[in-house]
Amino acid sequence: MIDTTTALELVLRHGAYNTEFFEVDLKDALDYVVAKDVVSRIDMPPFRQSAMDGYALHVYDDFTYTVVGEVQAGDKNDPTLRKGEAVRIFTGAPVPTSANTVVMQERVTVEGNKIIIEEPPKVNLNIRPKAEQIRAGGIALNKGTTIKGVHIGFLASLGLTEITVFKKPSVAIVVTGNELVAPGTRLSYGEIYESNGAMLTAVLKELGYKNTSAITIRDDYDTTKNVLSDTLGKHDVVIVTGGVSVGDYDFVGKAFNAIGVQEIFYKVRQKPGKPLFFGKKEGTSIFGLPGNPAAALSCFYIYVYPLLKKYEGAKHMNLPTIFLPLLSDYTVRGTQAQFLKARIEGAGVRILGGQSSAMVQAFGDANALVCLPVNSMEIKRGQNVKTLLLPTK
Ligand code: AMP
Ligand code: MG
Repeated sequence: MIDTTTALELVLRHGAYNTEFFEVDLKDALDYVVAKDVVSRIDMPPFRQSAMDGYALHVYDDFTYTVVGEVQAGDKNDPTLRKGEAVRIFTGAPVPTSANTVVMQERVTVEGNKIIIEEPPKVNLNIRPKAEQIRAGGIALNKGTTIKGVHIGFLASLGLTEITVFKKPSVAIVVTGNELVAPGTRLSYGEIYESNGAMLTAVLKELGYKNTSAITIRDDYDTTKNVLSDTLGKHDVVIVTGGVSVGDYDFVGKAFNAIGVQEIFYKVRQKPGKPLFFGKKEGTSIFGLPGNPAAALSCFYIYVYPLLKKYEGAKHMNLPTIFLPLLSDYTVRGTQAQFLKARIEGAGVRILGGQSSAMVQAFGDANALVCLPVNSMEIKRGQNVKTLLLPTK
């Protein structure tokens, strides 16, 4: 059985990726990955901007200036200031070429058309120099960046309307289990509601992957084989849940084998998610996740999410990792690495209750997974633990 680090390495080494890109409207660019460095066509700011409401002037050896005009944000005038003259100016307005400082209005006393300054102003105060943020020709966004709202704002400020992004993967979710029925119907004895399909579809959507499909199938070898065979050719990533253990009715592994899926690994020394399967066939990456919903979700975040990021050319693929002190003692037994639903609070991390693989409720409060290495025993409060940050929380 391989360890978690090796498993993640293998996912990133063998996982499919694509190089196809296209242009997208900036307003639709959220969550796509930048395919070509985005270059600014303008200086930002495009002109010397006042950073304050006050008075623009050219400093000289007196404290009194005559106010000869006004420049508002958006004004196009560039008044020439002579010695001892100032203009009223507002935040965002172009600073006259002949001025070399802006004095905050709080620092002056107004007397008629004159202002008196308390102390000699420094040159270049309260002026945002032209191109202070970025120059025309400078890189605004690097290839490999996952576009977030802030990036859209920045690119809009540079006047850009389109951006070149990588194609996103299409993802199929195949849920297995005879016991599963759709929410909305009555439960008979022995049945449970199917939830992995809805959950993974929604989590994928949260992360920007909207090209998904989900299907529920029964624990039957032929059905499993036929559905998987049909699904593989149509999608870039296939996520199967359930049926990957060694029970008599776990047909997923046999079906993968029969349809020519190349196994990269099966079973990882971890809890939850020991029976995790990863394989590939042609351009498709295939995961067999455990059926238990919390285990499936942990494995999704730890292994599937990095693969999706790799597929679309993202620079940052893994969940960000930090070491944080535990907020209370925690005892573990077992020889597997543990991924525990946890919440970062203040400067520490708290391991939540309800850690069973079947219990997904605690995941709702979690913003992180604490990762304890193989053979951990008694972890004391204050001890630093590896903490993986969950996205979008
Ligand atoms: P399996 O991995 O197929 O052995 O399933 C492990 C456990 O997860 C069983 O208790 C299943 O009933 C449950 N389970 C499997 N698939 C789902 C699903 N899609 N939604 C909710 N529970 C599931
Ligand atoms: Mg099952």
